[in-house]
Amino acid sequence: MQKVKKMKKTTFLLITLPLLFACNNLQMPEEPAPKKVKNIILMIGDGMGIAQVYAGMTANCGSLNLEQCQNIGLSKTYSASSYITDSGAGGTAIATGHKTYNGAIGVDKDTVPQKTILEHAEDHGKASGLIATSTITHATPASFIAHAKSRNLYEEIANDFLKTDIDVFIGGGLNNFNSRSDSIDLTQSLKANGYTLIYKTEDLKKVKSGKLAGLLYEGAPPKYSEGRGNMLTVAAEKAIEILRQNKKGFFLMIEASQIDWGGHDNKTGYVVDEMLDFDRTIGKVLEFAKADGNTLVIVTADHETGGLSLTGGDLEKGEVEAAFSTDYHTSVMVPVFAYGPGSDDFRGIYENTELFHKMMAAFGFEE
Ligand code: MG
Ligand code: ZN
Repeated sequence: MQKVKKMKKTTFLLITLPLLFACNNLQMPEEPAPKKVKNIILMIGDGMGIAQVYAGMTANCGSLNLEQCQNIGLSKTYSASSYITDSGAGGTAIATGHKTYNGAIGVDKDTVPQKTILEHAEDHGKASGLIATSTITHATPASFIAHAKSRNLYEEIANDFLKTDIDVFIGGGLNNFNSRSDSIDLTQSLKANGYTLIYKTEDLKKVKSGKLAGLLYEGAPPKYSEGRGNMLTVAAEKAIEILRQNKKGFFLMIEASQIDWGGHDNKTGYVVDEMLDFDRTIGKVLEFAKADGNTLVIVTADHETGGLSLTGGDLEKGEVEAAFSTDYHTSVMVPVFAYGPGSDDFRGIYENTELFHKMMAAFGFEE
């Protein structure tokens, strides 16, 4: 059977190729419009380069859920101001399609606010969400919802959560909402705007629909190994459960914030724990995407952190030996893994700003 099928295909090609050459002045029939993607789940491993991925893979004895993504590319991360980006410029490039200066949040290099993919999704009636294992006002999630000259303006960034129709946000950073220099309690404003406020990971299960603000820690959530536990996976599953109720679809950004912090600390164990926590969440997200069929999942990073190199290891024992070359970020290209409808558009080598344009195209949004 297999053989016959193959021969048929060859014959077809032999006949059509000369015809194509002969008829090159004719209008080719228009290709059917590509099917629009209903949902996009963008997953950012902050500071996650190839070495961080392989450190996690080695610790997990040679495999990760991430490997289900068959379309893979590389993203160039430099910013408008530096060969080495930070999470403000890196997040803003992905969120808005603009290279900007380090420290910028949702503004271009001239500090002009630029509409983010989350805001575009909202404009088109989709639901939206942000999840992070840092404060929710931290640079990466902030880049998708806020517009600020500096990533350090956490209280201003918190204000911007009230200026959008975001449906679900879960992370740390309660203090930026209710313990502020201006004495305004934004949790009251959130409640007035219809949000259910949740302060503990275990209470997330109480919410089944509607708007959800999960401010699970006053400051940054702790490490996975020091009490945060499976917060990221629980939050991701809850967000999907709520956001999928919107008939027009949704945009969700999920950040594993602390892969970066492990890199800054030059702690291999910290990097690996956070990488594996991220991958377990990726597994749950891919499970949903597989069943749903209309969801594009993109897993990438804003930059690499630590200049991590793997100097030894054992795939059977799950042992990793690593060395770091810096306690800051590096310039190397970072991987992009994509799964689902439209994922083949994420192959190749391109600027981090292309991620925005590719997501816009996948949603069928005009720029
Ligand atoms: Mg970050
Ligand atoms: Zn960093």
